[in-house]
Amino acid sequence: MTARPNSRPDLRYPLVDNGLDYLLDVVGRLATGPGEQPVARDLKYAVLHLQAATEVLLKARLQQEHWSLVFDNPATATRKTFDSAAFTSCTTEAAFERLRNIVGLDLPAKGITAVTRLARDRNALTHYGLTQPAAAVETRAADVLNFLLPFLAQHLMPALAPGERTRAEQTMTVVHAQLRGIEAYIRTRMNDLRAGLAKVADTTVTCPVCAQPALVLAADADPTCRFCLMTWPDTEEAAAEYSWIVTGEVSSTDPDPEDPVQHCPNCSARSLVMKVTTAASAPQTRRLCFACADDFTDTDFTACAYGCGRLLPVDTEETLCPACIGVPFERN
Ligand SMILES: [Zn+2]
Ligand SMILES: [Zn+2]
Ligand SMILES: [Zn+2]
Repeated sequence: MTARPNSRPDLRYPLVDNGLDYLLDVVGRLATGPGEQPVARDLKYAVLHLQAATEVLLKARLQQEHWSLVFDNPATATRKTFDSAAFTSCTTEAAFERLRNIVGLDLPAKGITAVTRLARDRNALTHYGLTQPAAAVETRAADVLNFLLPFLAQHLMPALAPGERTRAEQTMTVVHAQLRGIEAYIRTRMNDLRAGLAKVADTTVTCPVCAQPALVLAADADPTCRFCLMTWPDTEEAAAEYSWIVTGEVSSTDPDPEDPVQHCPNCSARSLVMKVTTAASAPQTRRLCFACADDFTDTDFTACAYGCGRLLPVDTEETLCPACIGVPFERN
């Protein structure tokens, strides 16, 4: 008989790495070039692995609450059987029920239905091969991704241990980047987002990660893409990435009046992108700050008289920028 390992309480999440690995495989199989469709074999494994990813990641969230919740019958759970993984785990249906009733998560009914349907597809594929039109299967897989990705961002990632979280975020960046190649997912998700995005069209720009017009800028929130859920706590990084990846203009490290990214006269962050196409302005471009979301399209700028390379609006009385005047200005 082997000795029981040191008591390793709830810091153990082998499920997350495992689930994300499945997910990575899924998006890799579903993503295609423009106008192409995934081949039948990729679709088959995408469904099987998406089912596995969903099951594993739902259980990972249950395990964050308490390890006994992943048991088929939590009343009989012991730490020993948990550590040896020699137990029957709960069904996906039970996992949903516990996430709602015990953990108290507000899960969309639409998402639960999508997962249930995918389980049916998985069974059909396992026993009979692909018996349904590929497009329908792909759409159902997309519906599950549309549930699973926000679930991970909202409910699973925030409570991960730091090391694990960094690893998970790295994987998710690759997952997000693949989404642009999954047409069925783009249709499903953009349909869901359309009404909400219409209200913020003035400050919605193309996301550098997923290439969808869903990156929303706001004064009171980090730049966040509603499509791929990527957020940029560093607004200067968001501005530089937008400029470089979306418009192809590289921002230099030193201030320069010709630079595509300038210091914002309002919030002072170097997050004012001089050529931004918003959902409302296309094909015209605007000057928009990625930190405070102020629009400076109609402001005339002049270079700071001290020659520091920053711009300031011509209608101010100053000829020096705040940095050169030495006035400490507020940073957001
Ligand atoms: Zn995005
Ligand atoms: Zn600003
Ligand atoms: Zn200056």
